[in-house]
Amino acid sequence: MATADKVIIIGGGIGGLAAALALLKRGIDVEIHEQAPELKEVGAGIQISSNGTRVLYALGLEGALKHVQVLPSRRVIRHWNTGETWNWFDLGATTAQRYGTPHVMLHRGDLHGVLADAVRAYKPDAIKLGRRCAAISAAGDRAEVRFEDGETVQAAYIIGADGIHSKVRASLFGADRPEFTGCVAWRGLVPMEKLPAHISQMLGTNWLGPRGHVLHYPVRRGELMNFISFVERDDWQIESWVTQGTNDELANDFRGWHEDVHAIIRNIETPYKWAMMVRGPMPRWSQGRVTLLGDACHPTLPFLGQGGVMAIEDGYIIAACLAKYFDDPMTAFARYEDIRRDRTATVVRKSHENRRSAFSPALADQNAVAVEVAREWQQERVRERMEWLYSYDATVVAI
Ligand SMILES: Cc1cc2nc3c(=O)[nH]c(=O)nc-3n(C[C@H](O)[C@H](O)[C@H](O)COP(=O)(O)OP(=O)(O)OC[C@H]3O[C@@H](n4cnc5c(N)ncnc54)[C@H](O)[C@@H]3O)c2cc1C
Repeated sequence: MATADKVIIIGGGIGGLAAALALLKRGIDVEIHEQAPELKEVGAGIQISSNGTRVLYALGLEGALKHVQVLPSRRVIRHWNTGETWNWFDLGATTAQRYGTPHVMLHRGDLHGVLADAVRAYKPDAIKLGRRCAAISAAGDRAEVRFEDGETVQAAYIIGADGIHSKVRASLFGADRPEFTGCVAWRGLVPMEKLPAHISQMLGTNWLGPRGHVLHYPVRRGELMNFISFVERDDWQIESWVTQGTNDELANDFRGWHEDVHAIIRNIETPYKWAMMVRGPMPRWSQGRVTLLGDACHPTLPFLGQGGVMAIEDGYIIAACLAKYFDDPMTAFARYEDIRRDRTATVVRKSHENRRSAFSPALADQNAVAVEVAREWQQERVRERMEWLYSYDATVVAI
Protein backbone atom coordinates (compact mmCIF):
# COMPACT_ATOMS: atom_id res chain seq x y z
CA MET A 1 0.00 0.00 0.00
CA ALA A 2 1.22 3.53 -0.72
CA THR A 3 1.51 5.86 2.27
CA ALA A 4 -1.71 7.54 1.22
CA ASP A 5 -3.62 4.26 1.57
CA LYS A 6 -2.60 3.70 5.15
CA VAL A 7 -4.48 4.39 8.32
CA ILE A 8 -2.52 6.69 10.61
CA ILE A 9 -3.21 6.44 14.32
CA ILE A 10 -2.19 9.36 16.51
CA GLY A 11 -1.33 8.06 19.98
CA GLY A 12 0.17 4.72 20.97
CA GLY A 13 -1.78 4.21 24.21
CA ILE A 14 -3.98 1.22 24.94
CA GLY A 15 -6.73 2.32 22.53
CA GLY A 16 -4.38 3.24 19.68
CA LEU A 17 -2.49 -0.05 19.92
CA ALA A 18 -5.69 -2.12 20.14
CA ALA A 19 -7.04 -0.39 17.02
CA ALA A 20 -3.73 -0.90 15.18
CA LEU A 21 -3.68 -4.60 15.99
CA ALA A 22 -7.32 -5.03 14.93
CA LEU A 23 -6.62 -3.23 11.61
CA LEU A 24 -3.44 -5.20 10.88
CA LYS A 25 -5.28 -8.46 11.57
CA ARG A 26 -7.82 -7.41 8.91
CA GLY A 27 -5.02 -6.73 6.41
CA ILE A 28 -5.16 -2.93 6.62
CA ASP A 29 -1.82 -1.13 6.77
CA VAL A 30 -1.26 1.08 9.82
CA GLU A 31 1.24 3.54 11.20
CA ILE A 32 1.08 4.70 14.81
CA HIS A 33 2.59 8.06 15.70
CA GLU A 34 3.27 8.43 19.42
CA GLN A 35 4.60 11.60 21.00
CA ALA A 36 6.70 9.87 23.68
CA PRO A 37 10.35 9.20 22.83
CA GLU A 38 10.03 5.65 24.18
CA LEU A 39 7.10 3.32 24.33
CA LYS A 40 5.89 2.94 27.89
CA GLU A 41 2.82 3.37 30.04
CA VAL A 42 2.45 5.07 33.40
CA GLY A 43 3.25 2.89 36.39
CA ALA A 44 -0.27 2.03 37.50
CA GLY A 45 -2.81 -0.75 37.34
CA ILE A 46 -5.79 -1.28 35.10
CA GLN A 47 -8.69 -3.69 35.43
CA ILE A 48 -10.01 -5.22 32.26
CA SER A 49 -13.50 -6.62 32.73
CA SER A 50 -14.89 -9.54 30.69
CA ASN A 51 -16.16 -7.32 27.85
CA GLY A 52 -12.56 -6.11 27.41
CA THR A 53 -10.83 -9.51 27.68
CA ARG A 54 -13.36 -10.80 25.11
CA VAL A 55 -11.85 -8.36 22.60
CA LEU A 56 -8.25 -8.96 23.68
CA TYR A 57 -8.73 -12.73 23.28
CA ALA A 58 -10.27 -12.18 19.82
CA LEU A 59 -7.09 -10.23 18.98
CA GLY A 60 -5.08 -13.34 19.94
CA LEU A 61 -3.65 -12.06 23.24
CA GLU A 62 -4.91 -14.67 25.72
CA GLY A 63 -1.55 -16.46 25.95
CA ALA A 64 0.55 -13.31 26.34
CA LEU A 65 -1.79 -11.91 29.01
CA LYS A 66 -1.47 -15.09 31.09
CA HIS A 67 2.21 -14.28 31.70
CA VAL A 68 1.47 -10.94 33.35
CA GLN A 69 -2.10 -10.83 34.63
CA VAL A 70 -3.66 -11.51 38.00
CA LEU A 71 -6.92 -13.46 38.07
CA PRO A 72 -8.40 -12.27 41.36
CA SER A 73 -10.65 -14.64 43.29
CA ARG A 74 -13.14 -12.00 44.48
CA ARG A 75 -13.75 -8.45 45.64
CA VAL A 76 -14.31 -7.36 49.19
CA ILE A 77 -15.60 -4.17 50.81
CA ARG A 78 -13.98 -2.74 53.93
CA HIS A 79 -15.08 -0.12 56.43
CA TRP A 80 -12.93 3.01 56.14
CA ASN A 81 -12.33 3.29 59.88
CA THR A 82 -12.94 -0.06 61.63
CA GLY A 83 -11.57 -2.22 58.80
CA GLU A 84 -14.60 -4.58 58.99
CA THR A 85 -14.71 -6.70 55.83
CA TRP A 86 -17.65 -7.92 53.73
CA ASN A 87 -17.55 -10.24 50.71
CA TRP A 88 -18.73 -8.27 47.69
CA PHE A 89 -18.70 -10.50 44.61
CA ASP A 90 -16.86 -13.45 43.08
CA LEU A 91 -14.45 -12.93 40.23
CA GLY A 92 -12.10 -15.68 39.01
CA ALA A 93 -13.81 -18.81 37.70
CA THR A 94 -17.34 -17.51 38.40
CA THR A 95 -16.88 -14.50 36.14
CA ALA A 96 -15.08 -16.46 33.42
CA GLN A 97 -17.92 -19.02 33.35
CA ARG A 98 -20.66 -16.39 33.32
CA TYR A 99 -19.17 -14.18 30.62
CA GLY A 100 -16.87 -16.54 28.74
CA THR A 101 -13.70 -14.57 29.45
CA PRO A 102 -12.23 -13.46 32.80
CA HIS A 103 -11.89 -10.16 34.63
CA VAL A 104 -8.16 -9.49 34.90
CA MET A 105 -5.96 -7.06 36.80
CA LEU A 106 -2.85 -5.79 35.05
CA HIS A 107 0.03 -3.37 35.28
CA ARG A 108 -0.70 -0.85 32.52
CA GLY A 109 2.85 -1.21 31.22
CA ASP A 110 2.35 -4.98 30.88
CA LEU A 111 -0.91 -4.61 28.92
CA HIS A 112 0.71 -1.96 26.78
CA GLY A 113 3.74 -4.22 26.17
CA VAL A 114 1.54 -7.17 25.17
CA LEU A 115 -0.33 -4.99 22.65
CA ALA A 116 2.85 -3.37 21.28
CA ASP A 117 4.59 -6.74 20.84
CA ALA A 118 1.59 -8.08 18.93
CA VAL A 119 1.49 -5.00 16.67
CA ARG A 120 5.23 -5.29 15.96
CA ALA A 121 4.89 -9.01 15.24
CA TYR A 122 2.62 -8.00 12.33
CA LYS A 123 4.63 -4.97 11.30
CA PRO A 124 7.98 -4.36 13.03
CA ASP A 125 8.16 -0.64 12.18
CA ALA A 126 4.48 0.20 12.73
CA ILE A 127 5.13 2.38 15.79
CA LYS A 128 6.90 5.70 15.23
CA LEU A 129 8.12 7.41 18.39
CA GLY A 130 8.81 11.06 19.24
CA ARG A 131 6.09 12.16 16.79
CA ARG A 132 3.85 14.81 18.34
CA CYS A 133 0.79 15.72 16.31
CA ALA A 134 0.18 19.47 16.10
CA ALA A 135 -2.88 19.58 13.85
CA ILE A 136 -5.04 17.63 11.42
CA SER A 137 -6.56 18.85 8.17
CA ALA A 138 -8.34 17.59 5.09
CA ALA A 139 -6.25 17.28 1.91
CA GLY A 140 -8.56 16.52 -1.02
CA ASP A 141 -9.64 12.93 -0.63
CA ARG A 142 -6.93 12.32 1.98
CA ALA A 143 -6.42 13.38 5.59
CA GLU A 144 -3.24 15.12 6.65
CA VAL A 145 -1.41 15.27 9.95
CA ARG A 146 1.12 17.99 10.75
CA PHE A 147 3.67 17.15 13.40
CA GLU A 148 5.28 19.65 15.75
CA ASP A 149 8.55 19.45 13.81
CA GLY A 150 6.65 20.77 10.75
CA GLU A 151 6.56 17.49 8.79
CA THR A 152 3.23 16.51 7.23
CA VAL A 153 1.97 13.05 6.27
CA GLN A 154 -1.15 12.12 4.35
CA ALA A 155 -3.22 9.00 4.80
CA ALA A 156 -6.49 7.47 3.71
CA TYR A 157 -7.72 7.79 7.30
CA ILE A 158 -6.51 9.29 10.55
CA ILE A 159 -7.66 8.02 13.93
CA GLY A 160 -7.06 10.28 16.93
CA ALA A 161 -6.26 7.97 19.85
CA ASP A 162 -4.36 10.70 21.64
CA GLY A 163 -6.18 10.66 24.94
CA ILE A 164 -7.96 13.14 27.12
CA HIS A 165 -6.10 16.24 25.86
CA SER A 166 -6.49 15.17 22.23
CA LYS A 167 -4.94 17.49 19.62
CA VAL A 168 -6.90 15.67 16.93
CA ARG A 169 -10.21 16.43 18.70
CA ALA A 170 -9.17 20.08 19.19
CA SER A 171 -8.26 20.31 15.48
CA LEU A 172 -11.66 19.01 14.41
CA PHE A 173 -13.97 20.43 17.05
CA GLY A 174 -12.11 23.20 18.90
CA ALA A 175 -11.20 23.39 22.58
CA ASP A 176 -13.34 21.47 25.05
CA ARG A 177 -14.70 22.81 28.33
CA PRO A 178 -14.03 20.31 31.09
CA GLU A 179 -15.75 20.78 34.43
CA PHE A 180 -13.87 20.00 37.64
CA THR A 181 -15.65 17.37 39.79
CA GLY A 182 -14.19 18.61 43.08
CA CYS A 183 -12.46 15.28 43.33
CA VAL A 184 -8.80 14.23 43.05
CA ALA A 185 -7.52 10.72 42.28
CA TRP A 186 -4.28 9.34 43.74
CA ARG A 187 -2.45 6.34 42.41
CA GLY A 188 0.70 4.42 43.17
CA LEU A 189 2.30 0.99 43.26
CA VAL A 190 3.73 -0.94 46.21
CA PRO A 191 6.06 -3.96 46.00
CA MET A 192 3.96 -6.78 47.46
CA GLU A 193 6.71 -7.96 49.83
CA LYS A 194 6.46 -4.67 51.72
CA LEU A 195 2.88 -5.39 52.78
CA PRO A 196 1.67 -7.65 55.61
CA ALA A 197 0.21 -11.01 54.53
CA HIS A 198 -3.39 -10.08 55.33
CA ILE A 199 -3.20 -7.20 52.81
CA SER A 200 -1.10 -8.79 50.07
CA GLN A 201 -3.89 -11.04 48.83
CA MET A 202 -4.99 -11.89 45.31
CA LEU A 203 -8.28 -10.05 45.52
CA GLY A 204 -9.67 -6.59 44.94
CA THR A 205 -10.50 -4.43 47.97
CA ASN A 206 -12.71 -1.33 48.03
CA TRP A 207 -12.80 0.83 51.15
CA LEU A 208 -16.08 2.71 51.67
CA GLY A 209 -15.95 5.96 53.56
CA PRO A 210 -16.95 9.61 53.76
CA ARG A 211 -15.20 12.19 51.53
CA GLY A 212 -13.16 9.50 49.81
CA HIS A 213 -12.85 5.99 48.43
CA VAL A 214 -9.84 3.65 48.31
CA LEU A 215 -9.27 0.58 46.20
CA HIS A 216 -6.31 -1.70 45.79
CA TYR A 217 -5.65 -4.78 43.75
CA PRO A 218 -2.67 -6.95 42.77
CA VAL A 219 -1.00 -6.63 39.36
CA ARG A 220 2.01 -8.12 37.52
CA ARG A 221 1.53 -11.76 38.58
CA GLY A 222 0.89 -10.50 42.11
CA GLU A 223 4.30 -8.85 42.49
CA LEU A 224 2.86 -5.35 42.96
CA MET A 225 -0.17 -3.86 44.71
CA ASN A 226 -1.91 -1.11 42.78
CA PHE A 227 -3.42 1.64 44.94
CA ILE A 228 -6.03 4.14 43.77
CA SER A 229 -7.97 6.56 45.90
CA PHE A 230 -10.39 9.40 45.37
CA VAL A 231 -10.84 12.31 47.70
CA GLU A 232 -12.99 15.45 47.73
CA ARG A 233 -10.60 18.37 47.29
CA ASP A 234 -10.92 21.60 45.39
CA ASP A 235 -7.34 22.89 45.69
CA TRP A 236 -5.87 20.79 42.88
CA GLN A 237 -7.13 21.10 39.31
CA ILE A 238 -4.42 19.69 37.04
CA GLU A 239 -5.52 16.74 34.93
CA SER A 240 -2.29 14.87 34.36
CA TRP A 241 -0.75 11.55 35.33
CA VAL A 242 2.78 12.90 35.59
CA THR A 243 2.14 15.16 38.58
CA GLN A 244 3.78 13.73 41.68
CA GLY A 245 2.49 14.31 45.18
CA THR A 246 4.00 13.14 48.45
CA ASN A 247 3.16 10.23 50.72
CA ASP A 248 2.48 12.74 53.53
CA GLU A 249 -0.01 14.70 51.44
CA LEU A 250 -1.78 11.49 50.46
CA ALA A 251 -1.80 10.25 54.08
CA ASN A 252 -3.26 13.59 55.14
CA ASP A 253 -6.14 13.18 52.68
CA PHE A 254 -7.02 9.91 54.47
CA ARG A 255 -6.59 11.01 58.08
CA GLY A 256 -8.68 8.80 60.37
CA TRP A 257 -8.79 5.88 57.91
CA HIS A 258 -7.82 2.36 58.99
CA GLU A 259 -4.16 1.46 59.58
CA ASP A 260 -4.20 -1.00 56.63
CA VAL A 261 -4.87 1.91 54.26
CA HIS A 262 -1.95 3.80 55.79
CA ALA A 263 0.32 0.73 55.63
CA ILE A 264 -0.14 0.84 51.85
CA ILE A 265 0.18 4.63 51.55
CA ARG A 266 3.47 4.61 53.51
CA ASN A 267 4.96 2.10 51.06
CA ILE A 268 3.89 3.68 47.76
CA GLU A 269 7.04 4.35 45.78
CA THR A 270 5.80 7.48 43.97
CA PRO A 271 2.29 8.81 44.54
CA TYR A 272 0.72 10.64 41.59
CA LYS A 273 -2.38 12.84 41.68
CA TRP A 274 -4.88 13.70 39.00
CA ALA A 275 -7.75 16.21 39.17
CA MET A 276 -10.89 14.56 37.83
CA MET A 277 -12.81 16.49 35.18
CA VAL A 278 -16.03 15.69 33.31
CA ARG A 279 -17.01 16.51 29.76
CA GLY A 280 -20.39 16.11 28.10
CA PRO A 281 -20.74 13.29 25.53
CA MET A 282 -20.00 14.25 21.91
CA PRO A 283 -22.92 13.58 19.50
CA ARG A 284 -20.41 13.01 16.64
CA TRP A 285 -16.64 12.64 16.66
CA SER A 286 -15.71 12.11 13.00
CA GLN A 287 -15.17 14.57 10.17
CA GLY A 288 -14.26 13.63 6.61
CA ARG A 289 -11.53 10.99 6.88
CA VAL A 290 -10.67 11.60 10.52
CA THR A 291 -12.22 10.04 13.60
CA LEU A 292 -11.45 9.59 17.29
CA LEU A 293 -11.47 6.75 19.80
CA GLY A 294 -11.10 6.18 23.54
CA ASP A 295 -10.47 9.09 25.88
CA ALA A 296 -10.06 11.42 22.89
CA CYS A 297 -13.84 11.29 22.30
CA HIS A 298 -15.40 9.97 25.52
CA PRO A 299 -13.14 10.51 28.53
CA THR A 300 -14.70 8.64 31.43
CA LEU A 301 -14.37 9.02 35.18
CA PRO A 302 -12.84 5.87 36.66
CA PHE A 303 -15.81 4.87 38.88
CA LEU A 304 -16.80 1.97 36.61
CA GLY A 305 -13.26 1.00 35.57
CA GLN A 306 -14.24 1.18 31.88
CA GLY A 307 -12.35 3.99 30.11
CA GLY A 308 -9.59 1.71 28.85
CA VAL A 309 -12.02 -1.09 28.06
CA MET A 310 -14.16 1.30 25.97
CA ALA A 311 -11.01 2.33 24.05
CA ILE A 312 -10.29 -1.36 23.32
CA GLU A 313 -13.89 -1.98 22.17
CA ASP A 314 -13.72 1.18 20.00
CA GLY A 315 -10.49 -0.05 18.39
CA TYR A 316 -12.05 -3.38 17.46
CA ILE A 317 -15.21 -1.80 16.02
CA ILE A 318 -13.47 0.95 14.01
CA ALA A 319 -11.26 -1.71 12.41
CA ALA A 320 -14.34 -3.76 11.47
CA CYS A 321 -16.04 -0.67 10.01
CA LEU A 322 -12.99 0.32 7.95
CA ALA A 323 -12.52 -3.26 6.73
CA LYS A 324 -16.10 -3.32 5.46
CA TYR A 325 -16.34 0.23 4.07
CA PHE A 326 -12.74 1.25 3.30
CA ASP A 327 -13.76 3.12 0.15
CA ASP A 328 -16.69 4.88 1.78
CA PRO A 329 -15.60 7.09 4.70
CA MET A 330 -19.05 8.48 5.37
CA THR A 331 -20.59 5.05 5.86
CA ALA A 332 -17.57 3.68 7.74
CA PHE A 333 -17.65 6.47 10.33
CA ALA A 334 -21.45 6.69 10.51
CA ARG A 335 -21.60 2.97 11.36
CA TYR A 336 -18.75 3.32 13.87
CA GLU A 337 -20.44 6.22 15.66
CA ASP A 338 -23.89 4.61 15.57
CA ILE A 339 -22.52 1.44 17.13
CA ARG A 340 -20.53 3.23 19.83
CA ARG A 341 -22.57 6.38 20.67
CA ASP A 342 -25.12 5.09 23.18
CA ARG A 343 -22.86 2.56 24.87
CA THR A 344 -20.00 4.97 25.50
CA ALA A 345 -22.34 7.82 26.54
CA THR A 346 -24.03 5.48 29.04
CA VAL A 347 -20.66 4.45 30.46
CA VAL A 348 -19.64 8.11 30.82
CA ARG A 349 -22.95 8.97 32.53
CA LYS A 350 -23.01 5.96 34.86
CA SER A 351 -19.36 6.46 35.83
CA HIS A 352 -20.26 9.99 36.86
CA GLU A 353 -23.32 8.78 38.80
CA ASN A 354 -21.21 6.11 40.53
CA ARG A 355 -19.03 8.81 41.99
CA ARG A 356 -21.97 9.62 44.28
CA SER A 357 -22.22 6.04 45.59
CA ALA A 358 -18.44 5.68 45.91
CA PHE A 359 -18.45 8.00 48.90
CA SER A 360 -20.79 10.24 50.82
CA PRO A 361 -20.55 12.28 54.03
CA ALA A 362 -23.24 10.03 55.58
CA LEU A 363 -20.69 7.18 55.72
CA ALA A 364 -18.86 8.97 58.55
CA ASP A 365 -21.43 7.37 60.84
CA GLN A 366 -19.98 4.02 62.08
CA ASN A 367 -23.12 2.00 61.23
CA ALA A 368 -23.85 3.64 57.90
CA VAL A 369 -21.33 1.57 55.92
CA ALA A 370 -22.97 -1.74 56.94
CA VAL A 371 -26.37 -0.38 55.91
CA GLU A 372 -24.96 0.81 52.57
CA VAL A 373 -23.23 -2.55 51.95
CA ALA A 374 -26.48 -4.44 52.64
CA ARG A 375 -28.40 -2.15 50.29
CA GLU A 376 -26.07 -1.51 47.34
CA TRP A 377 -22.95 -3.64 47.50
CA GLN A 378 -24.36 -7.16 47.16
CA GLN A 379 -23.46 -9.65 44.44
CA GLU A 380 -26.98 -9.68 42.99
CA ARG A 381 -27.23 -5.88 42.95
CA VAL A 382 -23.87 -5.65 41.19
CA ARG A 383 -25.02 -8.17 38.59
CA GLU A 384 -28.19 -6.18 37.90
CA ARG A 385 -26.17 -3.01 37.48
CA MET A 386 -23.31 -4.47 35.42
CA GLU A 387 -24.78 -7.25 33.27
CA TRP A 388 -25.40 -4.94 30.27
CA LEU A 389 -21.78 -3.82 30.45
CA TYR A 390 -19.91 -7.09 30.90
CA SER A 391 -22.04 -9.28 28.61
CA TYR A 392 -21.59 -7.00 25.57
CA ASP A 393 -19.66 -8.67 22.75
CA ALA A 394 -17.89 -6.18 20.47
CA THR A 395 -16.60 -9.05 18.34
CA VAL A 396 -20.03 -10.05 17.00
CA VAL A 397 -21.72 -6.67 16.57
CA ALA A 398 -23.35 -6.29 13.14
CA ILE A 399 -21.29 -3.73 11.21
C1 LIG B 1 -7.40 6.63 38.41
C2 LIG B 1 -7.82 5.97 37.13
C3 LIG B 1 -8.05 4.61 37.10
C4 LIG B 1 -8.50 3.99 35.95
N1 LIG B 1 -8.75 2.65 35.97
C5 LIG B 1 -9.24 2.04 34.86
C6 LIG B 1 -9.54 0.63 34.87
O1 LIG B 1 -9.34 -0.06 35.88
N2 LIG B 1 -10.02 0.08 33.73
C7 LIG B 1 -10.23 0.80 32.59
O2 LIG B 1 -10.67 0.25 31.58
N3 LIG B 1 -9.93 2.14 32.54
C8 LIG B 1 -9.45 2.76 33.64
N4 LIG B 1 -9.14 4.10 33.60
C9 LIG B 1 -9.34 4.85 32.33
C10 LIG B 1 -8.19 4.57 31.35
O3 LIG B 1 -6.97 4.85 31.97
C11 LIG B 1 -8.33 5.43 30.08
O4 LIG B 1 -9.66 5.46 29.67
C12 LIG B 1 -7.45 4.87 28.97
O5 LIG B 1 -6.09 5.03 29.28
C13 LIG B 1 -7.75 5.57 27.64
O6 LIG B 1 -6.92 5.04 26.65
P1 LIG B 1 -6.56 5.87 25.34
O7 LIG B 1 -5.70 4.97 24.52
O8 LIG B 1 -7.81 6.43 24.76
O9 LIG B 1 -5.74 7.13 25.86
P2 LIG B 1 -4.33 7.19 26.61
O10 LIG B 1 -4.12 5.99 27.43
O11 LIG B 1 -4.31 8.53 27.30
O12 LIG B 1 -3.25 7.21 25.43
C14 LIG B 1 -3.08 8.34 24.60
C15 LIG B 1 -1.72 8.24 23.93
O13 LIG B 1 -1.60 9.30 22.99
C16 LIG B 1 -0.32 9.94 23.12
N5 LIG B 1 -0.47 11.32 22.67
C17 LIG B 1 -1.12 12.34 23.30
N6 LIG B 1 -1.05 13.47 22.58
C18 LIG B 1 -0.35 13.17 21.45
C19 LIG B 1 0.04 13.94 20.32
N7 LIG B 1 -0.28 15.23 20.20
N8 LIG B 1 0.73 13.31 19.33
C20 LIG B 1 1.07 11.99 19.44
N9 LIG B 1 0.73 11.23 20.51
C21 LIG B 1 0.01 11.80 21.49
C22 LIG B 1 -0.01 9.79 24.61
O14 LIG B 1 1.38 9.93 24.86
C23 LIG B 1 -0.55 8.39 24.90
O15 LIG B 1 0.41 7.40 24.63
C24 LIG B 1 -8.68 4.75 34.75
C25 LIG B 1 -8.41 6.12 34.75
C26 LIG B 1 -8.00 6.74 35.92
C27 LIG B 1 -7.77 8.22 35.89
